[in-house]
Formats: sequence, C-alpha cells, structure tokens
Amino acid sequence: MDRQILILFGSRACAAADPILAAQRVGCTATVLSPAGDGCATMADGSVHIQLGDPASVVELARRLHATTPVAAVVSYEEEVTPLAARIAAALGLPAHPVDAAEAALDKPAMKQRLAAAGVPIADHVLAIDEDDAVGWAARVGYPVVVKPCRGSASQGVIRADDEPELRAAYRRVRRIVRDYGLDTGGRPNATQLVEKYLDGGEISVELLLQHGRTQVSAVFDKPEPLTGPFFEETIYLTPPRLDPALLKEVEDLAVRAAAALGLWHGPAHCEIRLTSDGPVVLEIAARLLGGPCSRVFSDRLGVDFHALLMRLAMGDPVELPEVGPDAPVAAAMMLPVPGEGRVVAVHGAEQARGVPGIRMVDIVAVPGDVIVSFPEPMCYSVGFVIATGATHQEVEESLAKASANITLELEPIGCDRWVRPVEPADADYRPPLPPLPVDREFVVSVLADSMFGELPHAAAIASAACAVECDEAARGVPAWVALGDGERRAVSVGFVDGTTGYMGCFGVPPEYRQAGLGEAVLRGQLAEFARRGCTLAVSETDPRLPLSPAALRRVGFTLAGSDDGSACRTC
Ligand code: ADP
Ligand code: CA
Ligand code: CA
Repeated sequence: MDRQILILFGSRACAAADPILAAQRVGCTATVLSPAGDGCATMADGSVHIQLGDPASVVELARRLHATTPVAAVVSYEEEVTPLAARIAAALGLPAHPVDAAEAALDKPAMKQRLAAAGVPIADHVLAIDEDDAVGWAARVGYPVVVKPCRGSASQGVIRADDEPELRAAYRRVRRIVRDYGLDTGGRPNATQLVEKYLDGGEISVELLLQHGRTQVSAVFDKPEPLTGPFFEETIYLTPPRLDPALLKEVEDLAVRAAAALGLWHGPAHCEIRLTSDGPVVLEIAARLLGGPCSRVFSDRLGVDFHALLMRLAMGDPVELPEVGPDAPVAAAMMLPVPGEGRVVAVHGAEQARGVPGIRMVDIVAVPGDVIVSFPEPMCYSVGFVIATGATHQEVEESLAKASANITLELEPIGCDRWVRPVEPADADYRPPLPPLPVDREFVVSVLADSMFGELPHAAAIASAACAVECDEAARGVPAWVALGDGERRAVSVGFVDGTTGYMGCFGVPPEYRQAGLGEAVLRGQLAEFARRGCTLAVSETDPRLPLSPAALRRVGFTLAGSDDGSACRTC
C-alpha cells in the first residue's frame, strides 16, 4: 500500500529538494505543505498550500491527507515549522519531538530558561524591554554584548556591541530588521530584544539524533573561520573538529544535556557551543538538522544515505548510525559569503569550482534577478554552497578556498520595484473595518513615526516621518491621504494623485497591529480614495530588499510591472 511523507516548508525553504528525494528513496510519496505555494512542487508527488498562521487548519489538512493515503512521517528541515510538524506528528500518533520542546527550541528566551533550569552553562543574558533597559543591563555586566531577535535563525540580526553607542545602534538595527523582515517575536512587542554577554572562543556544533529519548551524536562540526562579530555570517562547517578527545567528549555530553533540558525526544537536533576559556557554553539548540544543503555533508562523512536515514527515523523505524572509522573522510560545507548588496546579473565560475580536486558539490542558489542583501540582514543562505571531502583538514580547507575563489557574483544596483493595479470605479465602494478619520498631518506623521521609525527616540522618529512625508509631497502630485482609526488601532496611507494615476506613498500601521489586517484595510482605503478622484491606475514603488510590502500589495491585487535600474530609487 502507498504511504506518504509530509514535508513541511517554512517561508524560506533553503534546500527544498533534499527531503523530497529522500522520502521517495525510502519508497514513500512526498507531499509538500508550503506557505509559499508550489516552490519545489515539480519534484514532489503533491503539494498543498498552507497558512502558517493557522496551525489548527494545517493539522486538519494532515488528517484529511492521512485518510486518503496513510502518512508514514512528518518532517521539517526549517526551524520556523518544527513546532507545527510536531503538532501534526502528535495528532497522527507519529514519534517526534514534543510540541512544547520544539516551541522552546524556537524561542530563545524560553530555550534559555530551560537550559538554565537544568544547569546547562549559557551566556548571561537579559530579555530587554527596550534600548535603555539593554544599556542599563550592559553597564552592570560589562561589554562586549550581543543583541539578537528572540526568534531568529541563520544569524539574521545578530550583532555584537563593544560599548554603549554601539549597543544603541545595534539595538535599533535589530528592531528594524525584526520589523522590516516580519520576524516572529513570539507575541512580544518590537521593543523587546535579547541581549547577552559576548562569549569569546571557537565555535562548534554537535549534531544529535534522538530516538524515543535515546540521544546519539551523529557528527561534530568545527566552524574554523573566526566568528568574532560585529556580524556572524557562517561560512565553513568542518567535520570532524580538531579537538582533543577529552574536550570532544565534554561538548558531546553538554549537547546531550541541552537536548534533555529542552525535552527533545525523537528526531534530529543541532546544538551550537562556544569554547570559552571557562569551558564550553551552549549558544543554542534547534529541533532540526544543521541548516540547508550543509546537511549533505553527513552522507559524505558517515558513508550512508543520511537523509533517507532521517526519513526512516521519522517513520519510527529503528535506525543505526554507522561507526565512523579512522579512515572516514574529513568533510566540510561552505556557505558562500554574501559579497555585498545588489541584484544578481550572473554567477560565474561554478564549473571551474566543480573541477577543483576534492570538491563534491557546488550548488549555486542565487539566480539572475535575485536581490542579495548584506549581512546581517539576509534571511537565508542566499548565494550557494560548496561541499568538499579529503584525507586531511588542510586538504579540505584548501579545496574549499580554491573552489570559492572561482565563484563570483555579478551584481547591479538595486532599484525600486514598480507595482501596478488598475483602479475601478467599484473600488470606491470599499468599507474599511475602521472608521475613516479626518486627515490631520500631525496624526499621520505620528502613526508613520511609530510604524516606520519606532526604534528611534521619539523626536527623531517624528522628524524622520515628517521628512518621509515631505519627500513624497515634493516628488508627487496632489495629496490623497487616508487615515483610519479606532482608539489604538490606527492606520494611515499618504497617497498622491497625478492626472489619472494614483501613487501609493508611505503607509503605516502600529507594529503591534501588523497581523490584524489593518495594512490591507488602509491599502484598500487608499485605492477607494484614488477611485473617488477618478484614477484608473495605481502605482507603488517599493524597495525589493524588504519582503513585507510586496506581500501586502499582492493581497490587494497589485502585480509587479518591472524594476528600476537603481538610479531612480527614491530615498528619504
Ligand atoms: P541564530 O539562531 O540566528 O543562529 P544564534 O544565537 O545562534 O542565532 O547566534 C548566531 C551566531 O552569533 C552564533 O553562531 C555565534 O557565532 C554568534 N553569537 C551569538 N550569541 C553570541 C554570544 N553570546 N557570544 C558570542 N557569539 C555569539
Ligand atoms: Ca537558531
Ligand atoms: Ca545559530
């Protein structure tokens, strides 16, 4: 009888093909559940669109799929969806990490609480309620410190600060990244971020495989490139690490304790540890495999089809990790560093890189048209990966260095994306869920200050918002602003009309009401205003580095009409 494996994608699937092909190799059909639509659906046997914001409906969907073709396993390679995968597994009676453990692994403050309660060494930290709170704490414990989002990954928005001015700047930047990229805050206000003591020393990761509560180490990786900040872009993962056996044993035991502290039980786990002069300290533990295509290194190192082994584990079959003998190859994955900011024109040198001795794989992720942003902003390993094997560490590191030196990205400046939507007379009939307010400049500026510049001190936020509005006024035609409000729930849009074209200007919603549909309401309200003024076309120019506004524009019917060459992008 046919069985299927459900593969959950998050909003940033990075190595989508690996689990799909592995599910098929173990004789199951692969069904992808993805919030992004089809993604890799061409390889999967089926794909279903899901709403990550509505987990109960995803669990229901899984039950329905199970009724048609039995679901043998549920897997997720992305942290964002590990709790949802755990919920589905629990509902279908499949072995997995408990939901609360997967949730705690995703949420750094909750994770730290569990680690601390179990006596696992972690960095001193504070969940700062705002910038001044962070500064006050750092003044007591001393610099350097690291600021990070409560629920980030891939080191996005993780910034080191060596003194108060750096901490203030870093804190604001983290807030802006969290807001602009829509990072999950676990329901916390945007002003709340995590601050911890900077831990000096080398960094390693311990990869674990848990089976019904029994924990084994599948591999230990060294991160040989120094990670000292201010940003922490990961490059090389190398296994086995160059550690003396006593220290290796110590970090393995520590990772096992960390997994137990979280309550992880069945499935992979990835634990990152700093080797400080006071001994190993746990940075974090994730209820998933090492990220992206880096996980392909396991198969090279262990000499087994590791992804297929993970599928069998998720199906509840007993799995054996192979003994790794002294002749097992040294293996490493390298994430190609982000070279700077720009739109990808071409990627050169991949073929030459593939020809370098010892190189097992070169996987270029970036494709022409992609927008690459500089660290610490990117959400995904955006450029590509190289994997090498060899007899010695030195050999492998040389292969990676040679291969990566061959690969260059040709970038062009990023211009604004131009979005368009026809405006129909019927758009004027839209009735917003909030009452319209008389348009008052002070009110509009205060809402924009809050929503666009909330990380700045109040006076600076007001000044920046006023400047953004003036900039729109200078560049556009007749103001056609819209303001909606109902107590704390407020939204504004500062559109302009030029002939029969309506231009969308800045729009804003207080950050705590982001998910409440107010953004869509004010955009539709703006389109209604354009319709009342006789417009036939609405135009919006957006910064393609920021992923949120395209999503909002698509929802109200805009389509992408093209991109500027970079010279015409307005910046205020
Ligand atoms: P993410 O979940 O985004 O990977 P981490 O907490 O793992 O966030 O931080 C990313 C990287 O930043 C770590 O791998 C490490 O190199 C560096 N880092 C984070 N916290 C600290 C710290 N307290 N001291 C030193 N380096 C840190
Ligand atoms: Ca993480
Ligand atoms: Ca990490």
